[in-house]
Amino acid sequence: MIFRQLFDSTSGTYTYLLASRPGGEALIIDPVLEKVDRYLQLVRELDLKLVKAADTHLHADHITGLGALRDRTRCVTVMGEQTKADVVSMRVAEGDRIEIEGIRLDVLYTPGHTDDSYSFLMADRVFTGDTLLIRGTGRTDFQNGDPRAQYDSIFHKLLQLPDATFVYPAHDYKGDTVSTIGEEKLFNPRLKVTSIDEYAALMNSLNLPNPKMMDVAVPANMQVGLHQDEVARKGWALSAAEAIALCGRPDIALVDLREKSERDKHGTIPGSLHAPYPSLQEEIAAGGPLHELAAASGKRIVFYCAFGERSAMAVQAAQDLGLKSACHIGGGIAAWKKANGPLARG
Ligand code: FE
Repeated sequence: MIFRQLFDSTSGTYTYLLASRPGGEALIIDPVLEKVDRYLQLVRELDLKLVKAADTHLHADHITGLGALRDRTRCVTVMGEQTKADVVSMRVAEGDRIEIEGIRLDVLYTPGHTDDSYSFLMADRVFTGDTLLIRGTGRTDFQNGDPRAQYDSIFHKLLQLPDATFVYPAHDYKGDTVSTIGEEKLFNPRLKVTSIDEYAALMNSLNLPNPKMMDVAVPANMQVGLHQDEVARKGWALSAAEAIALCGRPDIALVDLREKSERDKHGTIPGSLHAPYPSLQEEIAAGGPLHELAAASGKRIVFYCAFGERSAMAVQAAQDLGLKSACHIGGGIAAWKKANGPLARG
């Protein structure tokens, strides 16, 4: 396994690069905008293909690298379903999985630091974001933070993991890099409380100054979405209502780019084809099934995904390969549902 812990000294942020093998798919957790060049250099040096970038929560102390990594690698951006970020490709919730080749992260909803805070559990280690830090816990006094929710997240979820589980947080300001659940149970001073009330009182008495970057970082991190309007300006987007009207027509091929788990959970558009986003390039390249469908059968390819981000990237890629009729459903299946489009299950 390839596992790299990278550090941004300006914000004290840890970023994690994961892959199961050299030459394989990679995932990055909590990337920092200013470090994107460095991450991509490392990805190239290790001969990896970055396919997903996830944030544990909407950060207040640095600008996320999610948007820049997506623009430069067409990777899938991932955050929790409560996030106030405008568009991420995939929104996850408790019990979901974030998967890449050879690696699986189980998604734990651990609110408290913010209401969109998640932890990601991978076999022997857990990425705790700012929920559980080394000998500390993330502040709970802004962005819908809640010390009581954090108490539950820590005591009833994270501390229930085996004691040997490694703890990899999103930040450290003292130079520590890793801990374990067992170590935090014994030595974390914030966890020496005897009740939820005591924890809330402790957290509410911290009186911390706001992060220096907060006024810049929070608004910037709420606008990571790909500019779908640019795709629309080129005439490559259908509204959900327009797509509903085309549904079932023989000259239209609707193509779902989401993963199986998203299809199972949220339903699909009846009669649509499935081409998961990671295999898109083979599908649309000359000789690929979607290329043939568009070029030989003259069908208009209409991509869709969860929120329109992957499909917007797919349209751009298909157009680059000369599939001039390719378009997508702006806003994805979320917009389709809002417009009361029909859904198939399972
Ligand atoms: Fe944070």
